[in-house]
Amino acid sequence: MYRAVLGLLLVVTMVLPAGPASGQVGTTTITKWQEGKTGAVSITFDDGTINHFRVARPLLNERGLPGTFYIVTGGIPGSEEKGRFIGRPVEEIIEETGEDSTDADNFFERASAVRYLGYKGTYKYHMEAGGLYEQGNVQEAYDVIDEGYRKVRQGEHEKKDGSWDYPLSEYMYEVMAVEPGVDLVTWDDLQSYDTEFHEFGSHTITHPYLAVMDEKNIRYELRESREAIQKHLGEEHTFSAEAPFGTKDERVMELGHEMSPALRNRMPRPYLTEIERGSEVKPDTTRTPYTLWQRGPLSDTPMSEMKRWVDVTQQNDNIWLVLVFHGIEGIGWEPISKAEMTEYLDYIDARTDDLWVATFADGTKYVQERMNAEVSTERREDVLSVTLTHSLGERYDLPLTLRTYVPSSWADVQIGQGDDRQSATVQTDDQGTYVQYQARPNGETIRITSR
Ligand SMILES: [Zn+2]
Repeated sequence: MYRAVLGLLLVVTMVLPAGPASGQVGTTTITKWQEGKTGAVSITFDDGTINHFRVARPLLNERGLPGTFYIVTGGIPGSEEKGRFIGRPVEEIIEETGEDSTDADNFFERASAVRYLGYKGTYKYHMEAGGLYEQGNVQEAYDVIDEGYRKVRQGEHEKKDGSWDYPLSEYMYEVMAVEPGVDLVTWDDLQSYDTEFHEFGSHTITHPYLAVMDEKNIRYELRESREAIQKHLGEEHTFSAEAPFGTKDERVMELGHEMSPALRNRMPRPYLTEIERGSEVKPDTTRTPYTLWQRGPLSDTPMSEMKRWVDVTQQNDNIWLVLVFHGIEGIGWEPISKAEMTEYLDYIDARTDDLWVATFADGTKYVQERMNAEVSTERREDVLSVTLTHSLGERYDLPLTLRTYVPSSWADVQIGQGDDRQSATVQTDDQGTYVQYQARPNGETIRITSR
């Protein structure tokens, strides 16, 4: 109880910008989190395996909690954008590997092409080299690529017959950790879910290790996947994306940020500390206004630990807990059961008075809009006029929660922005009397009056 009260006081004092004394009539602040809550939680799912939609989605819907689903678009039946190699004929590359070994100059091209040489099983060299490279074992990654091409040249890999049929490929089943023949989500399914309140985002076409690919092929994976989502689900689902294997590779991040306003992988901002899934940094020891705390529940993660993440988020005022789920109920990587998912969502749902459960896109928008917004208030007789602006561009369109201090004699307060009308209850804190309401940034001037 004491902790909760303390958290609330911190919110009030920390959100006030420099300027007029806090609590003075005509002062407006943007609350740290939506609706003045003390923290945020985003529930995200990677890889688009079927039980995200058949098991987790209904559980979210029953509780009114939004989810964010990063989907591998090339695995969706009927997708026109397939995995392929963008570049020279692969025969030329195979031949060259017999003449010189892999080095910094040719590695990215070779590691991009190796899945598409027309032989069975060569995708494994891409996987292995990708894992090694991401761990900093660069020379070992080169060696794996050399070994792969040597085996191809020596005829150790059986030729594929017919054309590359991506949705049924061995590679896809392995990276998504599903058995061949398991159901895959369809675009029709996804379109029907789009009437709900969830977010979808790109997780590339084929879930490669982008860090070991050349620029042409990285761009192809990111761009074509984004365009497939735009075409089938609409522009709003192209706001955030996740590059596979949680990569933080600088080249990939640069190209990714050119195409999506937000990547769950990385969000470099001076006002935000990022704590990776594997990091043990304590989120309540950071000094920035916001901390993005990623946690990935795996099959053996104790429920008590998962609940503790939620508690810590609730007991502080600066934490955005971003949960990363993979498999659900036996399908996908490191699955957690339906029973565990149910218990966990109930636990989160019981704390929504304090916690704002938001899609990853909305969490991103709120934090960035608030930190880049200018808000000013003018008082003329019995009208307070508030303007809220930012220069982040029109995709940052999430309404923010404002708190404007009003004369203590005000009772029945009306708030209008353009055609939107809200009534607000007058509240008090140790700073004074205020009303709390939602406002659209870069919209009309907000007028606050008392009847
Ligand atoms: Zn993934």
